[in-house]
Amino acid sequence: MASDTQNQQTAEFGSCCEELGQVMSGEEFEPLITVGGDGILYMSVGLIDIDEDEPGMVDHPVFFCPFCNTKLQDPEAVRAQLEEAFAADET
Ligand SMILES: [Zn+2]
Repeated sequence: MASDTQNQQTAEFGSCCEELGQVMSGEEFEPLITVGGDGILYMSVGLIDIDEDEPGMVDHPVFFCPFCNTKLQDPEAVRAQLEEAFAADET
């Protein structure tokens, strides 16, 4: 079940076109494009064996909508945010 908070968070990324809106709503399928806990939009690009039983997903930030090419996120801003999060993990 998606929480209200999640719906609010994903609304800004699904507003550019019907296709992405459908993906973000995730009503008909399990989307591979999701908003992370950090508020960054990620796309799953592959599977990796980190666990013996369950493969992990390899995510990559999405900067442009794959359907209508609208700029969704600024690469510089995302990179800065990820570096900040990484630095926070280190300490
Ligand atoms: Zn779009």
